[in-house]
Amino acid sequence: MDVRCPNCGGPLQPFRRLTREEQDEVRRIKRVDDPAAYHRCTRPGCRRFQRWSNWRDGDNFPEPEAS
Ligand SMILES: [Zn+2]
Repeated sequence: MDVRCPNCGGPLQPFRRLTREEQDEVRRIKRVDDPAAYHRCTRPGCRRFQRWSNWRDGDNFPEPEAS
């Protein structure tokens, strides 16, 4: 599904469903009970996730641990 990504800007970006681990992360970051309602930008380097139905309702996954 191609939707607007505020990080990437420009043309619409393909987003994908979240993995189980990503859903757990969204539950922590956003404090929501329905993390499956979110999806993630697939452009390399972009860590944006946002709600299917509202691109403004989103955040970024934290950078991977360096260690
Ligand atoms: Zn993006």
